[in-house]
Amino acid sequence: MADVLTYVLHYEGEFNKNSLGAVSEGAARAKEIGGECHAVVVGGDDLTDELCSSLGAYGATKVFRAKGSEGLAQPVVDVMAKVIDEHGQAYALFGGGLLGFEIGAGLAARKHAGVTMEVIAVKAEDGKLVAERPILQDSQISISRYKGDLGIIIGRINAFEARTVDGGSAEVVDVDVEYSAWSNQAEMVERGEQRGADVDIEGANILIAGGRGLGKPEGFELLEQLAGAFGGNSAVAATRAVVDAGWYPYAAQIGQTGKTVSPKLYLAAGISGAIQHKVGMQSSENIVAINKDAGAPIFEFSDLGVVGDLNKIVPKLIEAIKAKKGG
Ligand SMILES: Cc1cc2nc3c(=O)[nH]c(=O)nc-3n(C[C@H](O)[C@H](O)[C@H](O)COP(=O)(O)OP(=O)(O)OC[C@H]3O[C@@H](n4cnc5c(N)ncnc54)[C@H](O)[C@@H]3O)c2cc1C
Repeated sequence: MADVLTYVLHYEGEFNKNSLGAVSEGAARAKEIGGECHAVVVGGDDLTDELCSSLGAYGATKVFRAKGSEGLAQPVVDVMAKVIDEHGQAYALFGGGLLGFEIGAGLAARKHAGVTMEVIAVKAEDGKLVAERPILQDSQISISRYKGDLGIIIGRINAFEARTVDGGSAEVVDVDVEYSAWSNQAEMVERGEQRGADVDIEGANILIAGGRGLGKPEGFELLEQLAGAFGGNSAVAATRAVVDAGWYPYAAQIGQTGKTVSPKLYLAAGISGAIQHKVGMQSSENIVAINKDAGAPIFEFSDLGVVGDLNKIVPKLIEAIKAKKGG
């Protein structure tokens, strides 16, 4: 038996697109190795029979539903470990993102299983799954094969496309889980849309991009003030380093694994100018960079470079723009 278990995140009665992609991928690959795709969902009364069985439309044949705190890693690890112990799935496959990485690490430790993260493709080979992951700045592909009873495969965010299949409706199985003591130490107090998640950075004329040089998530408030001072069609964007750190939404990420932008003005604050960032913004009409390190690579492709501390320069820039606009 070579079944694949996925974890499906949900919010306000809808499944997450990244997770649905993992179900589709899990179903397609499981079929190739003679197995089925099963899904785990964790939550409260909002997980109705109808909602859970709708995962069948993406290829899941069984949905294991557990009552518990949604959006936290440890309870999900408890549920997945129990389902795997009882049903013996050979692979756990789910979408990346901060939660996915945390669950993957927790499950790997719990089950003493091999884990591969940032996977972009999964293939069937001799009745087993192998995971492909880019390395060395995406110039090479590394292939992971798994030993033991369980292999854990975590996709790069949105690496797998959500595809519907004909007439699928999954069987819903309730799972009674006794959560580990530490799993209940954290509590989900509130969930909501991240600030800036709806921003259209691809359509903006003026983009103020922030990086790790902002020092802390609150640094983005300064950049939002700057974008506000410019007014018009301006927006705030970010590097991958800061979106991975949870400082700003993924929707605002520029670069190789983010969005490609070409605004009239691109202003970088505290961004080093790594090649993976550059490929997403190099066609901007005017590039301005503020960086305290005169040797930062971003100055090599900037039209105007300002060497200095952004915490001193950006407030002065906001004042100057406001003064110029007469208020
Ligand atoms: C496969 C792969 C894909 C990737 N995809 C992307 C992608 O799509 N987009 C992306 O952005 N990155 C991507 N990266 C990551 C990329 O390699 C860099 O790590 C990232 O872009 C660095 O982000 P940063 O410039 O915010 O941080 P850092 O490189 O840490 O730079 C911070 C900069 O801030 C400056 N600074 C610090 N304090 C101040 C201050 N007070 N005032 C002014 N300047 C200051 C520093 O001098 C430094 O230059 C990818 C990496 C890999 C391996």
